[in-house]
Amino acid sequence: MSQVPDVIVVGAGVIGSAVAFELSKRSVRVLLLDEALPGRATSASAGGLWPIGEAIGLGCGVIYHAAQTGEASAGPASLPAVFRDFLAASNARFPQLAVELQDISGLDIEFSPGHGLLFLMFEERESEFVRGLAGSLPPSTRIDVLSADEVRRLEPALSPDLKGAALLSGEHQVNPMLLAEAFKRAAMRNGVHSRPDARVTGLRREGGRVTGVAVGDETISCGTVINAAGAWAGTLAATIGLDLPVFPVRGQIVLTETLPPLLHSCLSTSACYLSQKEHGEVLIGSTTERAGFDTSVTPAAIQSLCRGAMRAVPLLAQVMVKRCWAGLRPGTPDELPVLGPASGLTGYLNAAGGFRTGIVASPLTGEVVAQLATGERPTLPVEPFLMRRFE
Ligand SMILES: Cc1cc2nc3c(=O)[nH]c(=O)nc-3n(C[C@H](O)[C@H](O)[C@H](O)COP(=O)(O)OP(=O)(O)OC[C@H]3O[C@@H](n4cnc5c(N)ncnc54)[C@H](O)[C@@H]3O)c2cc1C
Repeated sequence: MSQVPDVIVVGAGVIGSAVAFELSKRSVRVLLLDEALPGRATSASAGGLWPIGEAIGLGCGVIYHAAQTGEASAGPASLPAVFRDFLAASNARFPQLAVELQDISGLDIEFSPGHGLLFLMFEERESEFVRGLAGSLPPSTRIDVLSADEVRRLEPALSPDLKGAALLSGEHQVNPMLLAEAFKRAAMRNGVHSRPDARVTGLRREGGRVTGVAVGDETISCGTVINAAGAWAGTLAATIGLDLPVFPVRGQIVLTETLPPLLHSCLSTSACYLSQKEHGEVLIGSTTERAGFDTSVTPAAIQSLCRGAMRAVPLLAQVMVKRCWAGLRPGTPDELPVLGPASGLTGYLNAAGGFRTGIVASPLTGEVVAQLATGERPTLPVEPFLMRRFE
């Protein structure tokens, strides 16, 4: 890139790529810098689009909450309504986005509408908290409580021990790697420059203004730096003295061999979640562990996920595991993302803390952060997500 970029985006995971794509539609000169670090979240992700499920604490949330409280029987904890609305609005963009990205990038993001997200209930306490959740949602958000027979009519492979399920229609899945790649390729088609092997070693600051980044010995100046460095966003912010509370939350995942069509919905239980991907593998996720930047997989976690999966779908006991891996979610103390400016600093924006919903949140996150970078009024209020809530 010969001219000074208007914006440098650090990190080309799903969030940085979505921001770059949205900026590319606004005639901004953008440089996207990334070094593929082990454990980057997007390429480890399940790709679930479960906005309400996650917002009311099902999906990965029920597993996270149990890990937080140390009680396997802990029920789900809901996220604030303002974030539920953010996720729902972001999720609503996927059908159209899939077409737009395919047109520009040529990539199919494998957006797969099925029956929705089914939270499976095996115990009375699960039925109780589902009934409580169903009563607390606004009328615009439907949650259908199904009997065991009704669930098995939708999903014949499920266990006969099942007591029933909660169905959230409209909660589907994508291929997260293809989504990020499609955002990035579409951005590049629109003129964004990308350097895929550039490790940003620090931000550059002069007084109250961020002026650019360092890539080793090289300094690159720009108008605005966007920090989309995933689980490493806090480390990057610290190079200019910013205390951004983003930390890695390890998620281990199991992938089975390719199977004939078995599941038509995404499934969530108190022990794991399951979804059959476009090419037939069943993905079983995921732990939520504070293990620093360690990306190992552990036998105990993998066994526990497999046990949870076999309880839900007994046939999986006869299936081979093809692969296990771990990724690092960009976690935050209140489970909400950190978006927008930092107090007292110009030339800097956060696009960080996507945590366990970064895939579903990516379309709207990209839009809102691009709007902030170009001085437009954001589609949704950004105040609840500003970094200053931690001050
Ligand atoms: C196991 C697992 C399952 C998940 N399942 C779901 C799900 O079903 N649905 C959902 O919505 N979300 C899910 N998530 C969460 C989601 O994947 C993340 O929120 C999202 O991918 C975060 O994207 P990101 O771009 O912020 O981070 P990342 O994808 O980690 O991207 C950050 C990028 O920045 C790069 N980088 C970092 N520091 C530097 C630097 N100094 N210089 C250059 N490059 C740098 C990294 O290498 C990386 O490429 C899951 C996450 C995990 C781990």
